[in-house]
Amino acid sequence: MLVHFLDLGGPGGASTKAYQDRLLGTMAVKRDYYEVLGVSREASAEELKKAYRRLAMQYHPDRNHGDKQAEDRFKEVGEAYAVLSDAGKRQQYDTFGHVADGVGGPGGFSFESAFDLFDMFFGGRRRHRTGPQRGSDLRMNVEITLREAVYGAKRTIEVPRADTCPECRGSGAEPGTSPQTCPQCQGTGQVRRSVQSIFGQVVNVTSCPRCSGEGRIVEHPCRRCRGHGRVESRKRLEVDIPAGVDEDTQLRVAAEGEAGPRGGPPGDLYLAFHIEPHPQLVRHGQDLIFELPVSVPQAVLGDTITVPTIDGEHQLEVPEGTQHGKILKIHGFGVPHVRSGRRGDQLCVVRVVVPTHLGAREKKLYEQLGSREGKPAEVRRGFFDTVKDALRG
Ligand SMILES: [Zn+2]
Ligand SMILES: [Zn+2]
Repeated sequence: MLVHFLDLGGPGGASTKAYQDRLLGTMAVKRDYYEVLGVSREASAEELKKAYRRLAMQYHPDRNHGDKQAEDRFKEVGEAYAVLSDAGKRQQYDTFGHVADGVGGPGGFSFESAFDLFDMFFGGRRRHRTGPQRGSDLRMNVEITLREAVYGAKRTIEVPRADTCPECRGSGAEPGTSPQTCPQCQGTGQVRRSVQSIFGQVVNVTSCPRCSGEGRIVEHPCRRCRGHGRVESRKRLEVDIPAGVDEDTQLRVAAEGEAGPRGGPPGDLYLAFHIEPHPQLVRHGQDLIFELPVSVPQAVLGDTITVPTIDGEHQLEVPEGTQHGKILKIHGFGVPHVRSGRRGDQLCVVRVVVPTHLGAREKKLYEQLGSREGKPAEVRRGFFDTVKDALRG
Protein backbone atom coordinates (compact mmCIF):
# COMPACT_ATOMS: atom_id res chain seq x y z
CA MET A 1 0.00 0.00 0.00
CA LEU A 2 2.73 2.40 0.94
CA VAL A 3 4.66 1.82 -2.27
CA HIS A 4 1.53 2.35 -4.28
CA PHE A 5 0.95 5.56 -2.44
CA LEU A 6 4.41 6.90 -3.23
CA ASP A 7 4.12 5.90 -6.87
CA LEU A 8 1.15 8.12 -7.40
CA GLY A 9 2.91 11.07 -5.89
CA GLY A 10 1.56 13.53 -3.41
CA PRO A 11 -1.15 15.83 -4.73
CA GLY A 12 -0.85 19.53 -4.13
CA GLY A 13 -3.29 20.89 -1.64
CA ALA A 14 -5.30 17.80 -0.76
CA SER A 15 -4.69 16.34 2.64
CA THR A 16 -3.00 12.99 2.92
CA LYS A 17 -6.13 11.66 4.57
CA ALA A 18 -8.46 12.58 1.73
CA TYR A 19 -5.93 11.30 -0.73
CA GLN A 20 -5.65 7.99 1.03
CA ASP A 21 -9.42 7.70 1.01
CA ARG A 22 -9.44 8.14 -2.72
CA LEU A 23 -6.78 5.48 -3.12
CA LEU A 24 -8.93 3.12 -1.16
CA GLY A 25 -11.65 3.82 -3.68
CA THR A 26 -14.02 5.58 -1.33
CA MET A 27 -14.70 8.96 0.09
CA ALA A 28 -16.37 7.31 3.05
CA VAL A 29 -14.35 9.25 5.57
CA LYS A 30 -15.42 12.83 5.11
CA ARG A 31 -13.31 15.64 6.33
CA ASP A 32 -14.63 17.96 8.95
CA TYR A 33 -16.34 20.96 7.31
CA TYR A 34 -14.48 23.46 9.49
CA GLU A 35 -11.21 21.81 8.58
CA VAL A 36 -12.13 21.93 4.90
CA LEU A 37 -12.63 25.69 5.10
CA GLY A 38 -9.72 26.14 7.46
CA VAL A 39 -11.73 28.04 10.07
CA SER A 40 -12.37 27.54 13.78
CA ARG A 41 -15.63 26.09 15.10
CA GLU A 42 -16.49 29.59 16.37
CA ALA A 43 -16.05 31.19 12.96
CA SER A 44 -18.45 34.02 12.19
CA ALA A 45 -20.57 34.14 9.05
CA GLU A 46 -18.15 36.72 7.68
CA GLU A 47 -15.15 34.48 8.31
CA LEU A 48 -16.89 31.57 6.58
CA LYS A 49 -17.64 33.77 3.61
CA LYS A 50 -14.05 34.91 3.37
CA ALA A 51 -12.70 31.37 3.62
CA TYR A 52 -15.12 30.10 0.99
CA ARG A 53 -14.40 32.97 -1.38
CA ARG A 54 -10.66 32.33 -1.22
CA LEU A 55 -10.80 28.53 -1.54
CA ALA A 56 -13.52 28.42 -4.19
CA MET A 57 -11.52 30.83 -6.34
CA GLN A 58 -8.38 28.80 -5.81
CA TYR A 59 -9.90 25.44 -6.76
CA HIS A 60 -12.35 26.53 -9.43
CA PRO A 61 -12.01 24.04 -12.32
CA ASP A 62 -11.76 26.85 -14.87
CA ARG A 63 -8.51 27.79 -13.22
CA ASN A 64 -7.13 24.30 -12.75
CA HIS A 65 -7.51 22.79 -16.21
CA GLY A 66 -8.89 19.37 -15.49
CA ASP A 67 -6.96 18.78 -12.28
CA LYS A 68 -9.00 16.09 -10.55
CA GLN A 69 -7.71 17.02 -7.11
CA ALA A 70 -8.80 20.62 -7.54
CA GLU A 71 -12.21 19.50 -8.77
CA ASP A 72 -12.75 17.42 -5.67
CA ARG A 73 -11.56 20.23 -3.44
CA PHE A 74 -13.89 22.67 -5.21
CA LYS A 75 -16.83 20.40 -4.52
CA GLU A 76 -15.74 19.73 -0.96
CA VAL A 77 -15.36 23.44 -0.20
CA GLY A 78 -18.79 24.17 -1.70
CA GLU A 79 -20.41 21.45 0.34
CA ALA A 80 -18.80 22.64 3.56
CA TYR A 81 -19.89 26.21 2.93
CA ALA A 82 -23.43 25.21 1.94
CA VAL A 83 -23.89 23.51 5.28
CA LEU A 84 -22.03 25.91 7.57
CA SER A 85 -23.51 29.09 6.05
CA ASP A 86 -27.00 27.84 6.93
CA ALA A 87 -27.57 28.45 10.64
CA GLY A 88 -29.96 25.53 11.08
CA LYS A 89 -27.78 23.03 9.26
CA ARG A 90 -24.70 24.29 11.00
CA GLN A 91 -26.29 23.64 14.37
CA GLN A 92 -27.32 20.15 13.28
CA TYR A 93 -23.85 19.48 12.00
CA ASP A 94 -22.24 20.74 15.19
CA THR A 95 -24.41 18.38 17.21
CA PHE A 96 -24.52 15.27 15.06
CA GLY A 97 -21.65 15.67 12.62
CA HIS A 98 -21.77 14.14 9.16
CA VAL A 99 -24.36 11.56 10.23
CA ALA A 100 -26.98 14.26 10.31
CA ASP A 101 -26.34 15.86 6.98
CA GLY A 102 -26.67 12.64 5.00
CA VAL A 103 -24.66 14.17 2.20
CA GLY A 104 -23.26 11.69 -0.28
CA GLY A 105 -26.51 9.83 -0.71
CA PRO A 106 -29.02 10.42 -3.51
CA GLY A 107 -29.84 14.07 -4.01
CA GLY A 108 -26.60 14.98 -2.22
CA PHE A 109 -24.14 17.68 -3.04
CA SER A 110 -23.12 17.27 -6.65
CA PHE A 111 -20.46 18.91 -8.69
CA GLU A 112 -23.16 21.00 -10.38
CA SER A 113 -24.44 22.12 -7.00
CA ALA A 114 -20.92 23.36 -6.27
CA PHE A 115 -21.00 25.43 -9.46
CA ASP A 116 -24.42 26.83 -8.72
CA LEU A 117 -23.33 27.83 -5.26
CA PHE A 118 -20.25 29.49 -6.73
CA ASP A 119 -22.31 31.37 -9.31
CA MET A 120 -24.76 32.53 -6.70
CA PHE A 121 -21.99 33.62 -4.36
CA PHE A 122 -20.15 35.61 -6.98
CA GLY A 123 -23.11 37.63 -8.13
CA GLY A 124 -25.23 35.07 -9.94
CA ARG A 125 -23.12 34.91 -13.06
CA ARG A 126 -24.25 32.10 -15.30
CA ARG A 127 -21.70 29.67 -16.55
CA HIS A 128 -21.65 29.63 -20.29
CA ARG A 129 -20.02 27.32 -22.70
CA THR A 130 -17.34 29.62 -24.01
CA GLY A 131 -17.69 29.34 -27.76
CA PRO A 132 -16.38 26.53 -29.95
CA GLN A 133 -13.55 24.42 -28.59
CA ARG A 134 -9.95 24.95 -29.63
CA GLY A 135 -8.31 22.24 -31.76
CA SER A 136 -5.52 20.01 -30.47
CA ASP A 137 -1.84 20.85 -30.68
CA LEU A 138 0.25 18.69 -32.99
CA ARG A 139 3.84 17.58 -32.71
CA MET A 140 6.10 16.64 -35.60
CA ASN A 141 9.69 15.56 -35.95
CA VAL A 142 11.85 17.13 -38.63
CA GLU A 143 15.13 15.60 -39.81
CA ILE A 144 17.84 18.14 -40.50
CA THR A 145 21.56 18.03 -41.21
CA LEU A 146 24.17 19.54 -38.93
CA ARG A 147 24.77 22.21 -41.54
CA GLU A 148 21.09 23.14 -41.47
CA ALA A 149 21.25 23.31 -37.69
CA VAL A 150 24.15 25.76 -38.01
CA TYR A 151 22.80 27.91 -40.84
CA GLY A 152 19.07 27.47 -40.44
CA ALA A 153 16.91 26.28 -43.31
CA LYS A 154 13.64 26.66 -45.12
CA ARG A 155 11.66 23.45 -45.23
CA THR A 156 8.43 22.37 -46.77
CA ILE A 157 6.70 19.91 -44.51
CA GLU A 158 3.45 18.04 -44.84
CA VAL A 159 1.26 17.99 -41.79
CA PRO A 160 -1.48 15.35 -41.62
CA ARG A 161 -4.25 16.96 -39.63
CA ALA A 162 -7.95 17.68 -39.33
CA ASP A 163 -8.95 20.91 -41.04
CA THR A 164 -12.15 22.88 -40.90
CA CYS A 165 -14.42 21.50 -43.64
CA PRO A 166 -14.24 23.88 -46.61
CA GLU A 167 -17.80 23.03 -47.72
CA CYS A 168 -19.68 23.93 -44.57
CA ARG A 169 -16.91 26.01 -42.94
CA GLY A 170 -17.09 23.83 -39.86
CA SER A 171 -20.81 24.15 -39.19
CA GLY A 172 -21.47 20.54 -40.19
CA ALA A 173 -24.62 21.59 -42.06
CA GLU A 174 -25.02 21.07 -45.81
CA PRO A 175 -24.34 24.35 -47.67
CA GLY A 176 -27.57 26.28 -48.08
CA THR A 177 -28.91 24.96 -44.78
CA SER A 178 -27.93 25.96 -41.30
CA PRO A 179 -27.98 24.25 -37.93
CA GLN A 180 -31.06 24.88 -35.86
CA THR A 181 -31.00 26.08 -32.30
CA CYS A 182 -31.89 23.14 -30.09
CA PRO A 183 -35.51 23.57 -28.98
CA GLN A 184 -34.99 21.65 -25.74
CA CYS A 185 -32.20 23.76 -24.29
CA GLN A 186 -32.66 26.93 -26.39
CA GLY A 187 -29.07 26.68 -27.51
CA THR A 188 -27.45 26.67 -24.10
CA GLY A 189 -26.48 22.99 -24.35
CA GLN A 190 -27.57 22.53 -20.76
CA VAL A 191 -30.79 21.58 -19.11
CA ARG A 192 -31.48 22.66 -15.56
CA ARG A 193 -33.65 20.68 -13.27
CA SER A 194 -34.75 21.68 -9.79
CA VAL A 195 -34.20 18.94 -7.27
CA GLN A 196 -35.25 18.83 -3.68
CA SER A 197 -32.25 18.12 -1.49
CA ILE A 198 -31.23 18.59 2.09
CA PHE A 199 -30.04 22.06 1.11
CA GLY A 200 -33.51 22.89 -0.04
CA GLN A 201 -34.15 23.58 -3.70
CA VAL A 202 -31.02 22.79 -5.72
CA VAL A 203 -30.77 23.32 -9.43
CA ASN A 204 -29.06 20.46 -11.23
CA VAL A 205 -27.44 21.28 -14.54
CA THR A 206 -26.83 18.49 -17.01
CA SER A 207 -25.81 18.26 -20.63
CA CYS A 208 -28.80 18.52 -22.97
CA PRO A 209 -29.75 15.00 -24.16
CA ARG A 210 -31.34 16.24 -27.41
CA CYS A 211 -28.25 17.96 -28.83
CA SER A 212 -25.55 16.27 -26.68
CA GLY A 213 -24.69 19.62 -25.17
CA GLU A 214 -23.93 21.34 -28.48
CA GLY A 215 -26.89 23.67 -28.31
CA ARG A 216 -27.71 23.11 -31.97
CA ILE A 217 -29.10 20.42 -34.19
CA VAL A 218 -27.91 19.72 -37.72
CA GLU A 219 -30.85 18.46 -39.74
CA HIS A 220 -29.03 18.19 -43.08
CA PRO A 221 -25.47 17.08 -42.41
CA CYS A 222 -22.79 18.31 -44.80
CA ARG A 223 -21.95 15.53 -47.29
CA ARG A 224 -18.26 16.34 -47.45
CA CYS A 225 -17.60 15.94 -43.71
CA ARG A 226 -20.75 13.99 -42.80
CA GLY A 227 -21.66 16.65 -40.30
CA HIS A 228 -18.40 16.54 -38.35
CA GLY A 229 -17.33 19.99 -39.50
CA ARG A 230 -13.76 18.76 -40.06
CA VAL A 231 -11.98 16.80 -42.77
CA GLU A 232 -8.67 14.96 -42.87
CA SER A 233 -6.08 16.86 -44.84
CA ARG A 234 -2.37 17.08 -45.50
CA LYS A 235 -1.32 20.67 -45.19
CA ARG A 236 1.91 21.71 -46.88
CA LEU A 237 3.74 24.27 -44.83
CA GLU A 238 6.85 26.28 -45.48
CA VAL A 239 8.75 26.66 -42.22
CA ASP A 240 11.83 28.69 -41.38
CA ILE A 241 14.11 26.65 -39.17
CA PRO A 242 16.20 29.14 -37.21
CA ALA A 243 19.98 28.75 -37.03
CA GLY A 244 21.18 27.07 -33.86
CA VAL A 245 18.33 24.65 -33.16
CA ASP A 246 19.21 21.52 -31.24
CA GLU A 247 17.42 18.28 -30.50
CA ASP A 248 15.85 19.75 -27.37
CA THR A 249 14.51 22.79 -29.22
CA GLN A 250 10.77 22.97 -29.82
CA LEU A 251 9.58 25.33 -32.48
CA ARG A 252 6.00 26.51 -32.16
CA VAL A 253 4.17 27.27 -35.37
CA ALA A 254 1.10 29.13 -34.16
CA ALA A 255 -2.36 28.07 -35.32
CA GLU A 256 -1.12 25.25 -37.57
CA GLY A 257 -2.37 22.41 -35.37
CA GLU A 258 -5.72 20.68 -35.72
CA ALA A 259 -8.82 22.72 -36.46
CA GLY A 260 -11.23 23.03 -33.55
CA PRO A 261 -14.53 21.19 -33.85
CA ARG A 262 -17.44 23.28 -35.20
CA GLY A 263 -15.18 25.95 -36.61
CA GLY A 264 -13.29 26.45 -33.33
CA PRO A 265 -9.82 28.02 -33.40
CA PRO A 266 -6.94 25.74 -34.38
CA GLY A 267 -4.29 24.41 -32.00
CA ASP A 268 -0.57 24.98 -32.52
CA LEU A 269 2.02 22.88 -34.29
CA TYR A 270 5.22 22.03 -32.44
CA LEU A 271 8.30 21.01 -34.38
CA ALA A 272 11.09 18.97 -32.82
CA PHE A 273 14.35 18.28 -34.60
CA HIS A 274 16.49 15.27 -35.20
CA ILE A 275 19.98 16.16 -36.41
CA GLU A 276 21.70 13.62 -38.66
CA PRO A 277 25.18 12.78 -37.44
CA HIS A 278 27.97 14.49 -39.39
CA PRO A 279 30.79 12.19 -40.60
CA GLN A 280 33.59 14.30 -39.03
CA LEU A 281 32.11 16.82 -36.63
CA VAL A 282 30.38 16.06 -33.37
CA ARG A 283 28.18 18.72 -31.81
CA HIS A 284 28.62 19.57 -28.17
CA GLY A 285 26.25 22.41 -27.34
CA GLN A 286 27.52 25.31 -29.40
CA ASP A 287 30.92 23.79 -30.07
CA LEU A 288 31.87 21.31 -32.75
CA ILE A 289 34.47 18.71 -31.94
CA PHE A 290 36.89 17.38 -34.52
CA GLU A 291 39.54 14.74 -33.97
CA LEU A 292 42.71 15.92 -35.67
CA PRO A 293 45.21 13.20 -36.61
CA VAL A 294 48.79 14.52 -36.46
CA SER A 295 51.93 12.57 -37.42
CA VAL A 296 54.86 12.41 -35.03
CA PRO A 297 57.03 14.74 -37.16
CA GLN A 298 54.11 17.22 -37.50
CA ALA A 299 53.59 17.19 -33.74
CA VAL A 300 57.28 17.66 -33.08
CA LEU A 301 58.12 20.22 -35.74
CA GLY A 302 54.74 21.92 -36.24
CA ASP A 303 52.82 22.23 -39.53
CA THR A 304 49.87 23.82 -41.27
CA ILE A 305 47.10 21.25 -41.70
CA THR A 306 43.94 21.50 -43.78
CA VAL A 307 40.95 20.62 -41.58
CA PRO A 308 37.28 20.31 -42.45
CA THR A 309 34.85 22.70 -40.75
CA ILE A 310 31.12 23.24 -41.21
CA ASP A 311 32.09 26.33 -43.28
CA GLY A 312 34.49 24.41 -45.56
CA GLU A 313 38.20 23.74 -45.39
CA HIS A 314 40.37 25.69 -42.99
CA GLN A 315 44.16 26.01 -42.68
CA LEU A 316 45.05 25.19 -39.10
CA GLU A 317 48.41 26.07 -37.61
CA VAL A 318 49.75 23.19 -35.48
CA PRO A 319 52.52 24.69 -33.36
CA GLU A 320 55.89 23.08 -32.80
CA GLY A 321 55.87 20.61 -29.92
CA THR A 322 52.12 19.95 -29.93
CA GLN A 323 51.19 17.24 -27.44
CA HIS A 324 48.72 14.42 -27.95
CA GLY A 325 45.30 15.47 -26.62
CA LYS A 326 45.97 19.19 -27.03
CA ILE A 327 42.89 21.13 -28.11
CA LEU A 328 43.32 23.68 -30.86
CA LYS A 329 40.40 26.10 -31.14
CA ILE A 330 39.09 27.57 -34.36
CA HIS A 331 37.16 30.54 -33.00
CA GLY A 332 33.67 31.19 -34.31
CA PHE A 333 33.34 28.04 -36.35
CA GLY A 334 30.83 26.39 -34.04
CA VAL A 335 27.04 26.49 -33.85
CA PRO A 336 25.27 29.82 -33.30
CA HIS A 337 23.20 30.37 -30.18
CA VAL A 338 19.57 30.13 -31.28
CA ARG A 339 18.74 33.55 -29.74
CA SER A 340 21.91 35.64 -29.65
CA GLY A 341 23.34 34.20 -32.87
CA ARG A 342 26.83 34.13 -31.30
CA ARG A 343 28.74 31.17 -32.63
CA GLY A 344 30.69 28.64 -30.61
CA ASP A 345 34.07 27.26 -31.65
CA GLN A 346 35.43 24.24 -33.42
CA LEU A 347 37.60 22.26 -31.04
CA CYS A 348 40.29 20.21 -32.78
CA VAL A 349 41.50 17.49 -30.45
CA VAL A 350 45.00 16.42 -31.48
CA ARG A 351 45.58 12.70 -31.89
CA VAL A 352 49.24 11.98 -32.47
CA VAL A 353 49.38 8.97 -34.74
CA VAL A 354 52.28 6.69 -33.89
CA PRO A 355 53.38 4.66 -36.92
CA THR A 356 53.08 0.89 -36.53
CA HIS A 357 54.71 -0.38 -39.71
CA LEU A 358 58.12 1.12 -40.27
CA GLY A 359 60.32 0.67 -43.29
CA ALA A 360 64.00 -0.15 -42.71
CA ARG A 361 65.05 3.47 -43.26
CA GLU A 362 62.44 4.93 -40.92
CA LYS A 363 63.28 2.37 -38.26
CA LYS A 364 66.93 3.43 -38.48
CA LEU A 365 65.94 7.09 -38.04
CA TYR A 366 63.83 6.34 -34.98
CA GLU A 367 66.65 4.27 -33.52
CA GLN A 368 69.00 7.19 -33.97
CA LEU A 369 66.46 9.52 -32.28
CA GLY A 370 66.00 7.09 -29.42
CA SER A 371 69.68 6.75 -28.65
CA ARG A 372 70.07 10.53 -28.82
CA GLU A 373 67.23 11.39 -26.41
CA GLY A 374 68.18 8.71 -23.94
CA LYS A 375 65.42 9.21 -21.37
CA PRO A 376 61.63 8.89 -21.82
CA ALA A 377 59.46 11.98 -21.84
CA GLU A 378 57.75 12.96 -18.60
CA VAL A 379 54.17 11.79 -18.03
CA ARG A 380 52.03 14.83 -18.43
CA ARG A 381 49.47 15.25 -15.66
CA GLY A 382 46.04 16.71 -15.89
CA PHE A 383 45.33 15.41 -19.37
CA PHE A 384 41.70 14.51 -18.66
CA ASP A 385 41.20 17.80 -16.86
CA THR A 386 42.28 19.65 -19.96
CA VAL A 387 39.79 17.76 -22.12
CA LYS A 388 36.99 18.19 -19.63
CA ASP A 389 37.67 21.92 -19.29
CA ALA A 390 37.55 22.35 -23.02
CA LEU A 391 34.30 20.41 -23.37
CA ARG A 392 32.65 22.31 -20.59
CA GLY A 393 32.87 25.58 -22.49
ZN1 LIG B 1 -18.69 19.97 -43.98
ZN1 LIG C 1 -30.09 20.96 -26.60
